[in-house]
Amino acid sequence: MSFSSLGLFAPLCRAIDDEGYSAPFPIQAEAIPAVLAGRDVMAAAQTGTGKTASYTLPMLQCLSTGPMVRANHIRGLVLTPTRELAVQVSVDVAKYGRHLSLTSGVVYGGVKINPQMMKLRRGADVLVATPGRLLDLFNKNAVKFSQVEFLVLDEADRMLDMGFIKDIQKIMALLPKRRQNLLFSATFSEEIRALAVTFLENPVQIET
Ligand code: AMP
Repeated sequence: MSFSSLGLFAPLCRAIDDEGYSAPFPIQAEAIPAVLAGRDVMAAAQTGTGKTASYTLPMLQCLSTGPMVRANHIRGLVLTPTRELAVQVSVDVAKYGRHLSLTSGVVYGGVKINPQMMKLRRGADVLVATPGRLLDLFNKNAVKFSQVEFLVLDEADRMLDMGFIKDIQKIMALLPKRRQNLLFSATFSEEIRALAVTFLENPVQIET
């Protein structure tokens, strides 16, 4: 099986070739066509399974068409529990998107907020964020959500373990109702399932 047979277009297949990937991992084979078809996805995925590419690649393709991102706006939002994961995901977004003209950024807490506010001025097609800092930036009017088309929760179980549920709910309430939602979690506890039903619409369920 090839990445192009999953529906990925040439600029992404070139970036995948640059990385030296020869074939999609199972989670990618399932998630990529589903996301490209506009479906919500709920996937059980541990680190190391290739989960990041399974949502970033099709999201980048979807975002490559559509309106230009406006000042301070974002179109694809990825929430992660930690700064380390946020940075890792943003590095992957930049790698996979290197032959596209999309913009991306990353924001997390524990560092000065002003440089992040400056960087968001031009907007970003993809923003990777930890929940608390994203809300701080929203409250300072540095980020606007009316153009958001995609929401990804990565390592959702860890976000709940770390007490981010309130922040996640606040963020979801601020986003446009019409959007595509992707949920990745190592485990599916009752708490994760309860969260999933509040925002996923008829999701494709993936177990790897
Ligand atoms: P992740 O589970 O997203 O943290 O990815 C784990 C590692 O697998 C990362 O270093 C990726 O660069 C790599 N990777 C992702 N997809 C593939 C693939 N199809 N073939 C080979 N390596 C991959």
